[in-house]
Amino acid sequence: MVVGPLSWPYRCPPAPFEVAFMLKYLAEQRGVAERTRITVFHPWAEPMETFGPQMVEGFRKFLDDFGVGFEGAFGLARHDRENRTLISSDGRALEYDFAVIVPNHRAPDVVRTSPLATADGYMDVTLPSMRSPRYDNVWGIGDAVAPTIGLGMAGVFAHFQAEHVVSQIIDRERGAYLGELYNMVGICVMDTGYMGAAVWCNFTDKLFGRATVPDCRLLGGMRAFRAVKVGFERYWFANLFGH
Ligand SMILES: Cc1cc2nc3c(=O)[nH]c(=O)nc-3n(C[C@H](O)[C@H](O)[C@H](O)COP(=O)(O)OP(=O)(O)OC[C@H]3O[C@@H](n4cnc5c(N)ncnc54)[C@H](O)[C@@H]3O)c2cc1C
Repeated sequence: MVVGPLSWPYRCPPAPFEVAFMLKYLAEQRGVAERTRITVFHPWAEPMETFGPQMVEGFRKFLDDFGVGFEGAFGLARHDRENRTLISSDGRALEYDFAVIVPNHRAPDVVRTSPLATADGYMDVTLPSMRSPRYDNVWGIGDAVAPTIGLGMAGVFAHFQAEHVVSQIIDRERGAYLGELYNMVGICVMDTGYMGAAVWCNFTDKLFGRATVPDCRLLGGMRAFRAVKVGFERYWFANLFGH
């Protein structure tokens, strides 16, 4: 089995690794791990490389611990569907029986085709206000602005940005002066099948150009994080759909 994205950025940077670890877990639970080989392919040379050395080391260890292969710097040149093979631009061939391929991501048309967009289609914003540099009454949050400001795409970023933007709008309209600061931290809880892991990254210095990578911690190898992820999911589903 092969898992990987065609390009970066895509949503939820650790997701292809998480999927691979869960597939490995499934194979073991079904007693077919001996004849199952799982590989993550990725345009990054190292796993999670844009998140800094601690994350690279942590994810390398996960890959080793779970027996999942990694093909880095893998830019897809050709997909031979008949022979179920992915061929990289430097000639590596990855055969598969089952492939999970993350397609190229692009900004929504409504942003891409508007004067809000940068050359690559994502919206431009000024930090830390998240306001369009062009229009004083337009703000941008989430995936539509992530590549422009140097963030990965994650719901947690959209969440904190939304609180910051909403507080500015209420301040402006009502004079409420809530002043909710933009919390430039991202937290990601992973279900790796066997257990859970959590990633905590502070992007403040990276977003202001004082560092090339975020300040990250990886808390891995605890079953408790798996329960946290399940609980979080149930909380959101209950809130959104009322059951
Ligand atoms: C497999 C996977 C796992 C993930 N895991 C995590 C995780 O553990 N933690 C985390 O923080 N993030 C995770 N994410 C990422 C997270 O889902 C996204 O980053 C987040 O949903 C982005 O929110 P958003 O509001 O910016 O964009 P979206 O959720 O894409 O919302 C944009 C909305 O705008 C709508 N829209 C587009 N065009 C128009 C239009 N013209 N008119 C009206 N509406 C329009 C779209 O239909 C969509 O509903 C994951 C993503 C994936 C795919």
